[in-house]
Amino acid sequence: MSDSISQPDPGLAGKNAIVTGGSRGIGRAIVERLAASGMDVTFTYVSNEAAAKGVVDENPDLAITPMRVDVRDSAAARACVEAMVERVGSIDVLVNNAGVIRDNLLPMLEDDDLTTVFETNIEGVFNFCRAAVPYMMSKRSGRIINISSVSGEKGGRGQTNYAASKGAVNAFTKSLAVEVGRRKILVNAVAPGVIETEMSEQVRDLAGDEITSNIVLKRYGLPSEIANAVWFLSSDLASYITGQVLSVDGGFKF
Ligand code: NDP
Repeated sequence: MSDSISQPDPGLAGKNAIVTGGSRGIGRAIVERLAASGMDVTFTYVSNEAAAKGVVDENPDLAITPMRVDVRDSAAARACVEAMVERVGSIDVLVNNAGVIRDNLLPMLEDDDLTTVFETNIEGVFNFCRAAVPYMMSKRSGRIINISSVSGEKGGRGQTNYAASKGAVNAFTKSLAVEVGRRKILVNAVAPGVIETEMSEQVRDLAGDEITSNIVLKRYGLPSEIANAVWFLSSDLASYITGQVLSVDGGFKF
């Protein structure tokens, strides 16, 4: 491969992506960004039918297909990836974005606050990777981008369950990158800071000034700013990057 000084081609047009949790927030921005680059994008959601329909209806010129799939269900994840490959022929990019938060102080955490967070945030990543990697291995190419969090590396009060799940995503990302690198599958994570979505609404309402005072850029991030990082890691421009956790957090200070 030779370096070129001409405008680089991201190489995404005509390729196929799947984005988990694409009906709202960061996932929706990723779906729209990849589809606007000429990709055929399948996205999953778990319950919000109206939001999922909105993504399709508001982007009539883009190739976007919703599927109702709970990422916690490994058989459903496998069936989803199989159906997508059957329909479009390949899976080139997998974005594991679906995630939930159940913040509370440790003594107050219920069993369900642990199982829901771990099953969604880390088992869901396992489920979709186990379904997609065999297709990528046989094609000897692929990109996997896992949406982690600033909480995976830095402590946060009331976030032991969420932080542990995102720390697991980071560790998973680094190990899978080593495991599948020989098959030319690149695996990275994007770790957002506080982004303006429904998920962060409560914490922004409760502790807004305290949070922004700890961000170098003194503002929250936008879903589109995470989507730009995912777009880059999906593209040919990121052909020599694997096993990394890319923080997109406006310079979060702890
Ligand atoms: P939102 O709550 O706005 O959206 C969550 C999305 O995930 C929805 O599409 C939802 O579907 C889907 N989802 C939730 N549970 C499941 C499930 N079991 N199976 C399938 N889909 C599911 O979240 P954000 O956009 O804010 O967050 C996206 C990712 O970014 C998450 O992994 C989150 O942890 C991470 N993140 C977010 C930050 C923030 O400040 N917002 C900061 C750091 C990381 P439905 O619409 O059907 O409910």
